[in-house]
Amino acid sequence: MTGSGDAMSATEKEIERALRPLSFEDFTGQAKVLDNLEVFVKAAMQRGDALDHVLLHGPPGLGKTTLSHIIANELGANIKMTSGPVLDKPSDLAGLLTNLQQNDVLFIDEIHRLNPIVEEYLYSAMEDYKIDIMLDSGPNARTVQIKLNPFTLIGATTRAGMLTSPLRARFGINCRLEYYDAKLLTTIVQRSSAILGTAIDEDGAFEIARRSRGTPRIANNLLRRTRDFAQVKGNGYINVAIAEIALNALDVDQHGLDEMDNRILSTIIEKFKGGPVGLSTIATACGEESETIEEVYEPFLIQEGFLKRTSRGREATEKAYFHLGVVPGMRNGE
Ligand code: ADP
Repeated sequence: MTGSGDAMSATEKEIERALRPLSFEDFTGQAKVLDNLEVFVKAAMQRGDALDHVLLHGPPGLGKTTLSHIIANELGANIKMTSGPVLDKPSDLAGLLTNLQQNDVLFIDEIHRLNPIVEEYLYSAMEDYKIDIMLDSGPNARTVQIKLNPFTLIGATTRAGMLTSPLRARFGINCRLEYYDAKLLTTIVQRSSAILGTAIDEDGAFEIARRSRGTPRIANNLLRRTRDFAQVKGNGYINVAIAEIALNALDVDQHGLDEMDNRILSTIIEKFKGGPVGLSTIATACGEESETIEEVYEPFLIQEGFLKRTSRGREATEKAYFHLGVVPGMRNGE
C-alpha cells in the first residue's frame, strides 16, 4: 500500500483487503498494463520460468500492491511483502531471499527508499539469483556465495525518478499506473458497494467516483464514509443526494479536490502571488511534508490543470484562480 498517508484502523484495513480484486479479470482499468502483464505471466508460466522483475510506479492508491498480489495469484506463487525503509541491512534482505521458493514473488514497496548498501546487494540477486553472505567477522571473515531459487522481484514506487539507474535497469518489465477516469471508478465503486452489501444507484456511484481524485483507494474510502451518512442520515441507500451531503461534509469539493489540495492552491495564489514558488516553501506554508506534496497532491493538481511545474517553481494556473474565485492579477487585495 504505497504511501497510503491515512492512518487506518484495523477494521478499515480489513475492509480494504476485502475490497481488493484477486485476479486480472477482477481488476478494473489500467488496460494496457494489464494486457501486457497477462502476456508476460502466461509466457513465463508456459516456459516454467520465473517472471522477469516488475517495476510498478505511479501515485499512491492506484493499485500497485493489488496488482502484485494478482500477479502472484496468477503465477500460482507465494508472495512475500516488505518495504524499502524496513530493509535496514543486507542480512534482512538475505533472510527474505533465501526463504523464497522457486518462482515466488518478493514485493518491495517504496523501493526508492532502499538503503544503498541493501540495494547493491539486491543487484546480484536480481541478475544471477545469487547473493554473497559474510560469515564471521574480523580476521576470520569470509564470504560464501548462496544460490537462490529463481524469483520475481516486484518493486513499487511513487517516485520512479528517484530510482538509481542500475536498479531501474534490472527490471525487465516497467509499468506506469495512471489515474482512473470517473467511468472506471464508477465501476469500482459499484463493485465495492456490492461486496460491502450497500445499495447504491448509478448516479450515486458516479458522484463518489468523479470526486475521488482518480484514485480507487480514495473512491473506496469515500464510499465507506458515504455509507455511514446513508445509514445515519438516510435509509441506508446511497443516491446522488446522500453522496453530495457526505462529500460536502468531508470537504471534498466539486472537482474532487480535498482540503489540502485547496490549501496548496490558495497558498500559492494568496501568499506567493500565484508563483512561481519553490516546493519546500509551499510545504512550510501549508504545514505538510514536501515529499507528500510532491507524491500525493501535486501529480493530480498538475494533471487536472490547476498547477504548473516550471524550472523556477510551482505556478497556479488560471483554472486554479477560477476555482478559488480569485481574479488573476487581483491578488492579496490589490
Ligand atoms: P497502491 O499500492 O498503488 O498504493 P493499492 O493496491 O493498495 O494501491 O490499492 C488501494 C485500494 O484500492 C485497494 O484496497 C484496492 O481495493 C483498491 N483498488 C486499487 N486498484 C483497483 C482496481 N483497479 N479495481 C478495484 N479496486 C482497486
